[in-house]
Amino acid sequence: MRKNLRKRIMLANLTCDVLKTLGMDYPLKSESPGHNCLECGNQLPYNARHGKKFCSISCKNRFHNRQQMGPRTMKVRILAILEKNHRILSELLEDDITSVPMSNLLVLGFNPMYATCCYRLNRREMRMCFDISFCMTASRIYDLAYTADLTAPTSM
Ligand SMILES: [Zn+2]
Repeated sequence: MRKNLRKRIMLANLTCDVLKTLGMDYPLKSESPGHNCLECGNQLPYNARHGKKFCSISCKNRFHNRQQMGPRTMKVRILAILEKNHRILSELLEDDITSVPMSNLLVLGFNPMYATCCYRLNRREMRMCFDISFCMTASRIYDLAYTADLTAPTSM
């Protein structure tokens, strides 16, 4: 019995060697890479469509949701910063304040790295935070004002 097993193993190894020398040692479909679900790692059925990547629709959705989570959370974070900047600038405008030292803004939680628009006008660095425009230097912001209603239809 044991001798028979050894003979079968030797024969199997010999068959593998012969196939290798003939260049016919292709991986079986079930052994070939890329035939596991990209999400859960379970092996896909042997008769799965060529190019199939997921074992189920829920694995596919989970995979794509995870792929999109990084950019989505980044956008949400930046939008939160812009909304906070806008709230701070709105409160200043409500109090008719149009010029503020940067140090005071930073204490309020203003983040000068984020704006919805930046441009140079007569050597001045103009910024916008949605509908509020202002000039910005390293030490302060000034000329704080609401711009014209950007949502109003423009006549051509
Ligand atoms: Zn899966």
